[in-house]
Amino acid sequence: MRMTQLLIPTLRENPADAEVVSHQLLVRAGYLRKVASGLYNYLPLMQRVLKKISQIVRDEMDATGAQELLMPILQPAELWKDSGRWEVYGKELIRLKDRHERDCVLGPTHEEVITTIAKNELASYRQLPMNLYQIQNKYRDETRPRFGLLRGREFIMKDAYSFHTSQEDLEREYQVMADAYTRIFNRCGLETRMVQSDSGAIGGNVSHEYMVLTRIGEDEQQSGENDVYHCSNCDYAANANHASSILSPANTTGDKSAAEVVDTPNATSIESLENDFNIPATIILKSLIYIVNEDIPVMVLIRGDLAVEETKLKNSIQDALEIRLATDEEIKDLTGGSAKGFVGPVELPKPIDVIADTSVLELKNFAVAFNQVDKHLVGVNWDADISTPKNVTDIRLAQVGDTCSACKQGTLEMTRGIEVGNIFQLDTKYSKMMNATYADEDGVEKHFVMGCYGIGISRTAAAAVERYHDDYGIIWPLAIAPYHVVVVPVNTEDETQMTLATQVYEQLQAAGVEIVIDDRDARAGMKFKDADLIGFPIRITAGKKAGEGLLEVKMRDQKESQDLTVEQILPFVQQQFETWKPLQQQPAAVG
Ligand code: ATP
Ligand code: MG
Repeated sequence: MRMTQLLIPTLRENPADAEVVSHQLLVRAGYLRKVASGLYNYLPLMQRVLKKISQIVRDEMDATGAQELLMPILQPAELWKDSGRWEVYGKELIRLKDRHERDCVLGPTHEEVITTIAKNELASYRQLPMNLYQIQNKYRDETRPRFGLLRGREFIMKDAYSFHTSQEDLEREYQVMADAYTRIFNRCGLETRMVQSDSGAIGGNVSHEYMVLTRIGEDEQQSGENDVYHCSNCDYAANANHASSILSPANTTGDKSAAEVVDTPNATSIESLENDFNIPATIILKSLIYIVNEDIPVMVLIRGDLAVEETKLKNSIQDALEIRLATDEEIKDLTGGSAKGFVGPVELPKPIDVIADTSVLELKNFAVAFNQVDKHLVGVNWDADISTPKNVTDIRLAQVGDTCSACKQGTLEMTRGIEVGNIFQLDTKYSKMMNATYADEDGVEKHFVMGCYGIGISRTAAAAVERYHDDYGIIWPLAIAPYHVVVVPVNTEDETQMTLATQVYEQLQAAGVEIVIDDRDARAGMKFKDADLIGFPIRITAGKKAGEGLLEVKMRDQKESQDLTVEQILPFVQQQFETWKPLQQQPAAVG
């Protein structure tokens, strides 16, 4: 293609609203334009990248025997009412009415529709197992649709769904998908880590995420980005919202003391109790009030040095759709005037359900607030002073340095990752809700055992940019670059340069290389800048040495260049294709 005829609107400046590198570079390099918050035009270069990633996904999915289909984005609310998700999906679900005032949704995922297909079309165990997938737009009204393609309100997903007669067969297919995912990301040039994850709104018990390990942004936890814990000793790896660890020890030595009230003026935080009153955080019982589904308060107890993991907390509360910390006003109201920092599980005027983290059970001679401003009880012991909580479960955020709960030897380390894929064992969650059955060998109707498997196609493109870029622009892995080669005639007025450049362009194009010739009448410096920004893996320049029949060849990811003749160019480029190898990461075993 000729640059003068392509729509590649590069910009000199980063767009003001782009906070992460992939968003900045994809807009600046002419791949992406915003239409509205979380909605983008994929310009021609972007579309080529997305098609390449999709093709890799298709190849690998087809190779496993999965079949591609296409389901509607617009779906009737009835299906969502049948599955129960109409009520529980929350504000992310885009709901609308058609001209007949019928409720509809824009699919954020397709479990309901696919389960209906299985219900209607798969009658017998003989048709199982079956794995069906599509590549399509998804809609989620995300709270903060920032960060470009990492978190859109409309985005492209590959979603696959499998149907089985048994849990064992689901587990077999789950491993097949896990292996395919590793191959897919290898072929995209992306190293990934498979980590245990929370099943969220999709449901089921077992799920794993594929994380591209990278840091985006500097400090704050950013969208599309997750904290990932992994063990220094074994294979254990989990998203922070799912990770468990062995509790670090607290001070439990010494005889049991008698409880006494002490004055703790202005000690509204654990830090001030530690610093101003010399009470170590590890012997403080921290009490927090959360509001569940906007109306039910619960009191959450945890050891003072630990933090609550809100996804784990939410999962531990039956029917919790949303949870949040109570406001100061709500706290005052619920505790009879007590302020934040002085709320405790004793003598509450109104009874509130209590959920405790397992860390609190070991506490001895601990300090606790008891709903009196500027006072704490110290030397407190379970049962002697307050009754031991009944509802006790792991709701804490694991800490770096904690002992691994899997091998009980290594310690947990943390990295950040972008979730590019997620696989789930759904069991019979949807088939039961939607009464989808097949007839088994004895003619007995049984619910399908299901799995589902997603890959964020557009997020994967952005993750590749996060992973592969430098100060000058994008450095695409060869397999997903929009074009392989750019040929730059330094001066388009120079006939020798133009002739040589055109000769190379035509030769490579005829050989099937995806190539662009930068035929713009522009300064060479600008063309080089654009070539680096766009991220063509190979740049061929016809410049000063064109008279000697030499072209300068430079790989985007290398500093040095070399001079080659026209005859040497094609073999050189072909060699790049041969030496471009997908990553050789081995698939991980699930389990
Ligand atoms: P997240 O936790 O980042 O919100 P999710 O767990 O809700 O994602 P899934 O339901 O597992 O997402 O969807 C499958 C895949 O789709 C994800 O692994 C991710 O790659 C992609 N994805 C999900 N939400 C978005 C989004 N808003 N924009 C772009 N890609 C997305
Ligand atoms: Mg997910």
